[in-house]
Amino acid sequence: MALQLFDSLKRETRELQPSHPDGVFRFYNCGPTVYAPAHIGNFRTFVVNDVLRRLLELEFGPGKVKHVRNLTDVDDKTIKRARDEGRPLAEVTKQWTDKFHADCAALNCLPPHVEPTATGHIDEQVDMIDVLMKKGNAYRAPDGSVYFKVSSFDHYGELSRVKERVLQPGSALKALAADADEKEDVSDFALWKAHKDEDGANSWESPWGRGRPGWHIECSAMIKKHLGETIDLHTGGVDLLFPHHENEIAQSECCNGQQFSRHWYHSEHLLVDGKKMSKSLGNLYTLDDLTAKGFSPMALRYALLMGHPRKQLNFTLDSLHAAESALLSIRDRLEEYADRAGISSQREALDNVIANDESLEGGFGAAWTNLCDDLNTPAALGTAFTMIKAIANSPFAASDQSAEQRSRWLTEFKAAHRLFNRAFGLNIKVRTLGERTAEKSNQSVPSSITALAEKRWTAKQAKDFAAADALRKELATAGWSMLDRKDGYSLEPIKR
Ligand code: AMP
Ligand code: ZN
Repeated sequence: MALQLFDSLKRETRELQPSHPDGVFRFYNCGPTVYAPAHIGNFRTFVVNDVLRRLLELEFGPGKVKHVRNLTDVDDKTIKRARDEGRPLAEVTKQWTDKFHADCAALNCLPPHVEPTATGHIDEQVDMIDVLMKKGNAYRAPDGSVYFKVSSFDHYGELSRVKERVLQPGSALKALAADADEKEDVSDFALWKAHKDEDGANSWESPWGRGRPGWHIECSAMIKKHLGETIDLHTGGVDLLFPHHENEIAQSECCNGQQFSRHWYHSEHLLVDGKKMSKSLGNLYTLDDLTAKGFSPMALRYALLMGHPRKQLNFTLDSLHAAESALLSIRDRLEEYADRAGISSQREALDNVIANDESLEGGFGAAWTNLCDDLNTPAALGTAFTMIKAIANSPFAASDQSAEQRSRWLTEFKAAHRLFNRAFGLNIKVRTLGERTAEKSNQSVPSSITALAEKRWTAKQAKDFAAADALRKELATAGWSMLDRKDGYSLEPIKR
């Protein structure tokens, strides 16, 4: 099935296709603001986009997708952080860029092909603003700031239906759109912000005086430079739909006189314990917060894919326990396939098969269909999970070891590996028989740990969840993660 995605602008599900003659699909995803660690909500958006990137590459072929994701390294938040810490802006943004990269790597998100920074593209932003000034879409305010004149673009509001949402003075949307007093109309937005004392050294020369670019023009300029005037897909979290993406469309289409993006996709937000994440509610998690509790980054990746990307997802620690168990279960089933296919005795043979898990659906066609139908990750995971359970539970007699049967298992192994690892990016490591035996003997669990685990299991059976949670923490501190199953538990050392 061809890859289809809901288009937030046209409000319909449509097939994704490259439009340029070179056949390269141009994909832009708004990146993080690098002033603090990204939280797990941000990572929901980046993990969903990573699955999308993987599917695009599987669909159009290697080298046929160009994925660009920016770093916002100058804005009010980054400048404030640098000022509060008395450090140069570039030092602060480098620290958080490095952390973002490390977290992305732990979550197995593929690096974009280009990762441009706002500060590295000041000239490109100035050039675009210059064109907008010359075309009459922008004006310079008395203080030296430059604003985009929203009334100059007839299509303004088509993405967010902002006109229908009543742009009244004092409305919440007006407040969102407003960012200074110097504008001719409250809906106008800043392209260039005149230098203020609190900006410190973070300003650049421009034809309109010293200042810094507005946030929205950054993405428009980087897209133009790295992907061209018309791109095939633009994505981000739902909060970016207005005003950020609405403003990007206005600037780019007025400047370039071309359609900006052929397809728009917005993923929904992550909630934690049913509420919006915030520091004051104490429900804001980073990846480090979760690994410190003993969870693996892959469990977070799995948990973030357990909800439909276009619906809000409620995150709980329980969903991470479920994800850890699911990952182990998938690994065990994949290993069983490998055993039945007769490829698990040597690492080299296994790696060779894995490197060539070519386009085979095996029994997983329905899961691929789910995934390609507007990225329905929960349906795809559910279908695939049922499938691997059913196959691996099927009786396996010695007489099944015919070449024909083995080849059937090999097909299923490759198909499952391709789905879980190449599409979902779950990084499931299939072990050889020898590796499994060695791990078992190395992993004899210390008796103090078994005792704690037994105590916790008893507490859980007695529904004393507070005690069970406290014991789980104790185990995590000692370096062990306890995975509950219906009929018992297993203990795994935490890999740090
Ligand atoms: P920021 O660093 O704030 O620019 O955000 C980076 C990305 O994370 C953007 O695509 C946001 O839309 C997205 N995002 C922010 N908060 C959440 C959340 N709670 N759930 C999902 N995505 C989010
Ligand atoms: Zn953006």
